[in-house]
Amino acid sequence: MHDLIIDNAVIHDGTGAAPQRGAVAVQAGRIVQSGRVEGNATQRVDARGLSLMPGIIDTHTHYDAQITWDPFANPSPALGVTTVVMGNCGFTIAPCRPSDRDLVMRNLTHVEGMSIDALRTGIDWGFESFPQYLDQLERKGVGPNVACFVGHSGVRTFVLRGDAAKRAATADEVKQMRAIVAEAMEAGACGFSTTRSGQHNGEAGIPMPSRLADNHEMTTLSATLRESGKGLLMMTKGADTPVPWIEELCAAADRPYLIAALLHSNLTPEATFDDLSRIREAQSRGRRMYGAVSACPLNFEFTLHEPYVFEGLRAWQPLMRMDPKDFAAALAEPALRAALKAELTERSRRMFTGEWEKAHVAQVADPAHAGYEGKSIGALARAAGQHPVDFMLDLALAENLDTMFTATLLNSDEDAVGRMMRDENAIVSLSDAGAHLTFLCDAGFGLHVLGHWARERKLMPIEQAVHKLTAEPAKLFGIRDRGTIAPGHHADLLLFDPATVGRGASRRVFDLPSGASRLTTPATGVHGVWVNGKLVADADGIRADAPKAGKVLREFAA
Ligand SMILES: [Zn+2]
Repeated sequence: MHDLIIDNAVIHDGTGAAPQRGAVAVQAGRIVQSGRVEGNATQRVDARGLSLMPGIIDTHTHYDAQITWDPFANPSPALGVTTVVMGNCGFTIAPCRPSDRDLVMRNLTHVEGMSIDALRTGIDWGFESFPQYLDQLERKGVGPNVACFVGHSGVRTFVLRGDAAKRAATADEVKQMRAIVAEAMEAGACGFSTTRSGQHNGEAGIPMPSRLADNHEMTTLSATLRESGKGLLMMTKGADTPVPWIEELCAAADRPYLIAALLHSNLTPEATFDDLSRIREAQSRGRRMYGAVSACPLNFEFTLHEPYVFEGLRAWQPLMRMDPKDFAAALAEPALRAALKAELTERSRRMFTGEWEKAHVAQVADPAHAGYEGKSIGALARAAGQHPVDFMLDLALAENLDTMFTATLLNSDEDAVGRMMRDENAIVSLSDAGAHLTFLCDAGFGLHVLGHWARERKLMPIEQAVHKLTAEPAKLFGIRDRGTIAPGHHADLLLFDPATVGRGASRRVFDLPSGASRLTTPATGVHGVWVNGKLVADADGIRADAPKAGKVLREFAA
């Protein structure tokens, strides 16, 4: 007797092969038969008209903090994700000494887009070392399967304490960091992650610690993975981080290297393709380098209380360091505005492109401004005879900064995004689930790939889209026995309606610790999500009775 048979489905097995109609039988959390199935089952699901695929593997999430109070990593499992990779960009909360917890949270509050109150209220700090963090996850249980990078900024803060975001490390400090990375790899980290991005800042504009690392530190820590003989490296590169330098780090590690965050900008339309060309050249020299490419337009919803979108601008830097009580007055300064306007004419790689027709007033605070809602800042500024910078800042100031804006920042050129996604070295990723919570939610990136890119735009056959969301990341990360539907593999499964699968519009909910808000998106066309053979989500989202069926993945193929 099997535990579960899913019958009459169109099966996409994850390998990229043409789909087959058939059934899948599950026993004790594993797939035991696929295609033709014999025997009976305690539970039988008739999947007529539906498609079955391996659960989506989301390789770029930031659930490290959230998962300590929300073991289900909301909303990812509802969106078809059965495995999340956490600790990207070097942002991990382990290792961390009790006395450094507040420092780490203040660093994270910005990049996670989560209030410091939510982090202070929410995080369960029952660990100090990285191995203890993994142990805690295992002890408390997790909804989806979880893999975790050991993060550079976490390690650097552990060793350099208050100096982590201030200076280069000494040779001795690099040695200590190296030992911690090695210990984490031994305990079950999936790799080592870091960031060089100018967009990655802690509280008050302090750069995330890894940005202070010099070449010696970067090379030494990368090389740690050579001795581990497993795992991969990931870096979110900065606008000026040269891919050939990352290739040197890749060579030092002799392990695969995943480069984020490749998003397309209309200001520098060839830049991402240049990165992908460099990656292709490195591949031809035997380096296993890949680009993490986003399948989603980067849409932010924000007020100027949290002006993350502008924080990559040079002209904005003084604002980040000033006392919050002086912030509003500074926004009125003509000198600041002149500097912003000038910088926005530069064709540089940055998050806020200054495409004012793609920035909108979403919600006003003063009913007298209701007529602005839904209109672009470009159009409103033209009508008012103002520069868009002045229009936006004046409106925000008139409403105590409570005006809600939306902006499409990157990845708005769909032809370009499609070209990036089809690149042979592209890994479709970058949901950033668990981060930027107040600004966006791309946790449903996989459903967007299936519905928008495969079904509507026919960018690739659906079996290829499934492959890119499952077996491809499983192979890169050395995740064993997952990512394909095959006898012996773990029963991580997504049952969906190919005619309707996708993600709905984002909406704001107020369920973070201390009542802070986040954006979320519902799934469409999802009928069931099984993690290790257990049903955790259905058409209504994560089930109220969902078991903590996930595993903390600690062993990875070499
Ligand atoms: Zn990230």
